[in-house]
Amino acid sequence: MAGILFIISAPSGSGKSTLVSEVRRLVQGLDFSISYTTRKPRGSEEDGREYHFTTREHFEQMIAADEFLEWAEVFGNYYGTALSALDLARKHGTDLLLDIDVQGALQVMHKMPEAVSIFILPPSPEVLERRLRNRSQAEGVANESVIGTRLSEARTELQKIDDYRYALVNDVLDQAAAEMRSIVLVARGDATPSDGKLAAQCLTAARSPRLESALASFGVTVAGV
Ligand code: ADP
Ligand code: 5GP
Repeated sequence: MAGILFIISAPSGSGKSTLVSEVRRLVQGLDFSISYTTRKPRGSEEDGREYHFTTREHFEQMIAADEFLEWAEVFGNYYGTALSALDLARKHGTDLLLDIDVQGALQVMHKMPEAVSIFILPPSPEVLERRLRNRSQAEGVANESVIGTRLSEARTELQKIDDYRYALVNDVLDQAAAEMRSIVLVARGDATPSDGKLAAQCLTAARSPRLESALASFGVTVAGV
């Protein structure tokens, strides 16, 4: 397999992790790149599964040694994709999903313009707030200031949506998962005409009514392309 790189970005709480797990159940051969981060594990997260959790000192050593494809500081913590994640996917013969923020995504788009970029957005700020709140309650951490920061950050990240080839509105999980599956199949050249049609509706430039409505609810007016 050629080793296609999929860049996935979404405001925190949009349901990106949930959606990515669902898509990996639907299509084979999609590796998930495990990033390095200096943030602390959340809930049931385990070192080496969701992230490689590390210290600022070690992360800075990795930056100095040029070990990252991209890295960024997000919410006061470092996050980065190690080049070794690409080597591993190549070795496994799989495609690779990068779940990275907008700053990191722009770095990868610049270095690897052939990468397929997908922005996932929640249907509205109200739904995003509810999901953030539910998640923090489920994890036993109720932190209002974190929820506030993430909501305002979401608006800023949404301004970059036109840099991404595809935009998925994660309202109904099954629908968003079917759309993402069709994007993967199109990139692989394995799509049926109906997969192709579904993926084409998700092109950011196509400005589907769902996308327009989600952007309007966040008060985001971006020019379109
Ligand atoms: P992210 O990875 O984008 O930060 P998560 O996958 O952790 O977000 O999802 C945030 C919360 O929203 C979780 O509680 C998850 O169960 C819920 N969620 C995700 N997708 C949907 C959806 N389509 N409909 C309803 N709830 C969802
Ligand atoms: P969280 O702490 O909620 O898991 O992630 C916070 C943000 O960091 C999300 O937007 C996520 O996409 C981003 N992120 C996770 N890993 C990486 C990475 O390796 N590089 C970059 N640039 N961002 C990342």
